Amino acid sequence: MASNFPGSERQGHPLLHVQKLSKHYVRGREWGKSVAVTAVCDVDFEIHAGQTLALVGASGAGKSTVARCVARLERPDSGEIWLDGTDIARLNSRDLLPIRSNIQMIFQDAETSMNPRFSAAEVIEEPLQIQGASRSERRDIATAVMREVGLPAEWLKRPVLEFSGGQQQRLAIARALSTRPKMLVLDEALSSLDLSTQAQIANLLLDLQSAHSMAYLLISHDLTLVARMADVLSVMSDGRIVEMGATQQVIADPKHAQTQRLLASARAAESKFDLASGASA
Ligand code: ADP
Ligand code: MG
Repeated sequence: MASNFPGSERQGHPLLHVQKLSKHYVRGREWGKSVAVTAVCDVDFEIHAGQTLALVGASGAGKSTVARCVARLERPDSGEIWLDGTDIARLNSRDLLPIRSNIQMIFQDAETSMNPRFSAAEVIEEPLQIQGASRSERRDIATAVMREVGLPAEWLKRPVLEFSGGQQQRLAIARALSTRPKMLVLDEALSSLDLSTQAQIANLLLDLQSAHSMAYLLISHDLTLVARMADVLSVMSDGRIVEMGATQQVIADPKHAQTQRLLASARAAESKFDLASGASA
């Protein structure tokens, strides 16, 4: 089946195909009644191997909920999540186990996803242990992925807390790579890094993507980064995707008011930055 997905000239099946994804949360009780929040409503998108789709939108738009559902850290209320030919939307935890090696998530703060007292080796080997890899297999892979993310293999014995922010994010990437995933979900993964570290990690992710043909779901509020990394840009507002297309096309000719607002505030922030750097020059 030929794909007519915007921004994609590729033919054939996408690696990830999300259809009508919806998720609500029940938030507390008001006047004796529970209040439901629709976090994500009827979201559709697809990502091909080697391709990056960015999800942008204001805080609370539903981006992280999409990410957590796609990585199956949460179960959606309804919809389908086809990953490499399997609908993973309703799988139970036992059936998800072999799928987990195919899709890995990287969060904004490495600290929240890694025990700071663990050694780098323990952090990287954790998902492999869950998958039942042998000790020597785990060690070999840990050494290989450290090298892939540009960290010396001798540091495998060091505790996470001795790594800098950028190095911790490299470690998080190394751990994600350990199971040789076909897809990475990056939820603001570069947001807490300084600009030059951010640029280095972005380059690393681009290199790894072309080396392994991984698909990326990239969530970021940074449109400069999105413009650099994403093939397809989709804009979320109130739980729905309101605009989607080839990144350069959406940036050059935004149709939806929400997209126009996001671009305007990004340009305002950029010109402030230019002024600041001009003043300090
Ligand atoms: P984003 O990542 O775009 O900022 P989220 O997906 O985190 O948005 O949140 C979407 C909506 O769902 C928000 O209204 C948020 O408050 C709500 N929400 C997210 N997670 C939970 C949760 N665990 N319990 C209750 N409400 C939640
Ligand atoms: Mg979020």
